[in-house]
Amino acid sequence: MRLVFIGECMVEIAPDGAAFRKGFAGDTFNMAWYARQLCPQEWGVDFVSAIGADAISDELAAFMDTAGVGTAHVQRHADRTVGLYMISLKDGERSFSYWRSQSAARRVADDPTLLDAAFDGADVVCLSGITIAVLEGAGRDNLAAALERFRAGGGRVAFDPNIRPRLWESVDSMRSEVMRFAALSDIVLASFDDEATYFGDATPLETLHRYQGIGVAQIIVKNGPDPVLGTLNGETVTFEPEPVRRVVDSTAAGDSFNAGFLVSALSGAGMSQSIAAGAALSREVIQHAGALSDEAVAAQKLFK
Ligand code: ADP
Repeated sequence: MRLVFIGECMVEIAPDGAAFRKGFAGDTFNMAWYARQLCPQEWGVDFVSAIGADAISDELAAFMDTAGVGTAHVQRHADRTVGLYMISLKDGERSFSYWRSQSAARRVADDPTLLDAAFDGADVVCLSGITIAVLEGAGRDNLAAALERFRAGGGRVAFDPNIRPRLWESVDSMRSEVMRFAALSDIVLASFDDEATYFGDATPLETLHRYQGIGVAQIIVKNGPDPVLGTLNGETVTFEPEPVRRVVDSTAAGDSFNAGFLVSALSGAGMSQSIAAGAALSREVIQHAGALSDEAVAAQKLFK
């Protein structure tokens, strides 16, 4: 199996006592990182992105290599660098500031031939609403066309809408682009909160029906601690996540869920079992600090 994740990975600056700690994270990269930790050794997990040619870009590439995430399709744009975000803590509440408007990852879909090369031989290509939000110029059209070619060759596309209005030129364009890329997908992994806010869905079932209506075969609707809904070719299941007594840091809950789900599904598990695998991992992830948690991977049991 070969899984390909496409998007942006940023430098993370997080408070650490009176100082700051540097890390790397970003939704589709988090998915790739967790997928790599969970999947069999012989599988390939690649991250497709664009970074700069400076020291911090080299550090990011080295970080990916060390994690076992393939970087053969990470482009280098010498006139750009990686995006950055800083976490601020006030009275226990975290808020985020971003510097990413010129990040190299916005240009990952400039060249259709590089997209085709990156997707070649993959079983699944996974992207998110953030991946498409940040693309510049012809990037979205290039990516949509490359995904169509990939599917025509038998590949499957997974899409997490990850709706972030701040990243979009307008809410209307956000809605139409999310639906356009969902329609190009075989699997949609949505979070009900976002969908309710920006599409006005009254229930997770309405979210599911909206994506069914545009022809998506498999739809998963996550909903924090509430039941996860899943449907595949007309069969719908509900899964109740085991409650967590204390949430330490909810960052990457949805990302790790997606990784657990995809690895399990590609291993041949049925939908309920794959949802359970996603929920088991994300349940651990939210009980540990930070987006990428070795402890959470070690603590979860379903992949052992
Ligand atoms: P996102 O991070 O995309 O907003 P959610 O908050 O919906 O995603 O969470 C994704 C998954 O993480 C949920 O489907 C669930 O399995 C798990 N999860 C999130 N919050 C909790 C919680 N408080 N207790 C147990 N599981 C949770």
